[in-house]
Parts: sequence; C-alpha cells; structure tokens
Amino acid sequence: MIRCTVARVDLDAIRSNFLTIRSYLARDASLNRDRGVQPSAPPAIIAVVKANAYGHGSVRVARALEEAGAPWLAVADIEEGIELRESGVRARILVFGALSVSDLDGVITHELTPTLSSPAAAGALQAAAAARGVQLKCHLKVDTGMHRLGFRHDNLERTLPLVFASSNVRVEAVHTHFATAEDPESLLFNEQRVRFDAVCVKLAGEHAVPFLRHAANSAALLRDSRVWYDFVRPGLLLYGVAPPPLATTLALAPVMTLVSRVVAVKGLRIGEGVGYGARFHAERPTRLAVVPAGYADGLDRRLEGRGFVLVRGKRAPIVGAVSMDMVTVDVTDIAGVSPGDDVVLLGAQGSEPLQRIDAREMASWIGTIPYEVLCRLGSRVKREYD
Ligand SMILES: *Cc1c(COP(=O)(O)O)cnc(C)c1O
Repeated sequence: MIRCTVARVDLDAIRSNFLTIRSYLARDASLNRDRGVQPSAPPAIIAVVKANAYGHGSVRVARALEEAGAPWLAVADIEEGIELRESGVRARILVFGALSVSDLDGVITHELTPTLSSPAAAGALQAAAAARGVQLKCHLKVDTGMHRLGFRHDNLERTLPLVFASSNVRVEAVHTHFATAEDPESLLFNEQRVRFDAVCVKLAGEHAVPFLRHAANSAALLRDSRVWYDFVRPGLLLYGVAPPPLATTLALAPVMTLVSRVVAVKGLRIGEGVGYGARFHAERPTRLAVVPAGYADGLDRRLEGRGFVLVRGKRAPIVGAVSMDMVTVDVTDIAGVSPGDDVVLLGAQGSEPLQRIDAREMASWIGTIPYEVLCRLGSRVKREYD
C-alpha cells in the first residue's frame, strides 16, 4: 500500500520541453543569420537539474534529458553532481556553487566541471589538479552586478592573471548570472549584459585561449536573444513553467502533477471550528473533505484560506490550518464527494481553465515563486515516472 499523495513526473514532457526550447533557439538563430545579425550558430543548452531537478527527481530527469540530446547538465554542488555520475549520467556536468577545498576530490574523480568564482578557489583547484597531474576544465564566473558569487567585473586585471597562468586549469567558458532577468522594467539587466560583453571582449583580446560564453537563465532566454551566446541555462522552462511575470508562446508541456485522494468526509454544524487553532468556522452546514497531504509534503501553511484543490473537476477551497500530514477542504458545493475520490493539488482535472492548478498559480496564492513551490515538495512524496 503506497501513500496516496504522489507526484507524477512526465518524462516525455521534459524531453519535449527540451526539444521545444532547442528548436526555438535554432529558429531564432537562423532568423538572425538571415538578417546578418549575430549569433550565427544556435546556442547549446545547459539543462539545469539542481535541487533534485526542481523537486522532480534529478537522476530520472537527467537521464531523460540526456536521451533527448542534452550535452550539458548543471547542478548546484558537487554532491549533486556525484549523484548523477554514480547513476550513470555521462553528459558534461557543470557545478554552479562555490568550491571549498574539501570538495575538490569529487570534481576530479567524477569528472565534473567546476565554476571558478574566486582567486582562492582558482589557487586550490590548480594545486589539486597539479598534485594529481591532471588538466581540469572550468567555467569562470564573472559578477556583473548580482553581487553574489563571481570575480568582480571591474577588478579582473588584478584577479584573473593568476587564473590564466594556472597550468593545470583551463578556462573553457566565461559566464555571468542576471539578477533581474524576469523584470522587464529593470535597467540592471542591460547593464549586466553590457558589462559582460565588455569583459568577454577584453578577455578575448588579452588571452590567447578561446573560451565560450553563457549567461541566460529561463527568463533571460525568453527575453533577449542577445544574451544567448554559446550556451543558455534554462531550469524552470524545462519543467514546463515560465518564470513570472513573463509569458511565453512556447508550447511547453506541464511536467509535474501532484495528486492525492479524499480519505474522509465530515459534516460540520454552524459555528463549529476546524483544525489547529480552529480558525475556520462553519457559517452554514458544511461538508469537509480530508486530504492526506500537509506541510511535511511541501504544502505551504499560507494556503489556508487562500488555496484550492481539485475534486470531481471543481475547485474546493482549503479551509482551516494546513497541518503536517493533512489539509481540510470545503466540499459543501461539490455534489457527491466521498472517500477515495481523486484530488489534484497541482495539475489538471478536466480541460476547462479552472480545472487546472499550476505551480505559478499556487505560488501566487502564497506570495512566493513557482521555483519554491516545486523545490520544496517533500521527500516523503513518492515520485512516479511515466
Ligand atoms: C538556477 C540557475 C539557472 C536556471 O534558472 P531558471 O530561472 O530556472 O532558468 C541558471 N543559471 C544559474 C547560475 C542558476 O543558478
């Protein structure tokens, strides 16, 4: 007997989203070529599978992407990369996060590609590679205005000579990350783009070794083909979700469906309260359905009084506290709800617009972003792949 709260992950949808993005990049690149505008070759895709592939299960998602032809994957840290290698993934794997000295063994033995984001990391990597007598390729991260990781764009004369002088470390690519790609009003996006272009021109002039360039997350990819460069780095788009508030005409397929079942139905008399804190009171004779999914499964406690689930093709409001292992929903207006009925928390139960709840909508109910809704899906929730 498995728990009835299950996340169904459609690997065909992942593959199809990857191919849809790839043909979009190819089409636009060829349009540009016709107009005599750069870039002449479409960028390759670095498929981002960090954080357990945004909650979808990194090993299965990575394998699906590899089958679809993804030449590169990206993860947040070395441990995530090692997990993929140990499951047989052969694609190149870029590690975004900061390197600490203790991690370096994993990079070398599992053939991961590290991001270099500080002079200290460069020194440590050079020493480790020299000690093993190997040549390591790395991607160099330049901070063009996000002010998180990376070599500051305005201080490279001081920091980069050491990196380029490292005989065992070769800079294969230079990249940056946008702070405000999803905000059409932001000026910083353009400033970062211009700074990155200037850095690349300067480095190409100073260092004989050619390098590749990348910058675009999902939002930047949708927004501006000038930042496609040699690779783009979509995450959220692969999972069928556009980063809000951006919209897309790309035909992305939804990947995750979170389902459960009604396990009990209960009548409430006027004035009776429900759940911890008894914050919801019945103002009319009320029928409640109990669904065994709670905050331990990743549901946000702020869904109380704000969110809905689908039962019998209708939206049932979440009432009363979201508890650790269950939620209660008001099904007074939905005829015939009984134990065993299917419940959809994310996904569709019919073809009408109101019969679909996606991660963007759930995020909007609770004041967060779809990334968080997907990533926080609990480890207790079984992922089923089809
Ligand atoms: C997470 C991440 C991405 C992917 O971001 P999306 O918005 O999901 O496309 C790209 N680049 C870096 C450096 C990241 O950390």
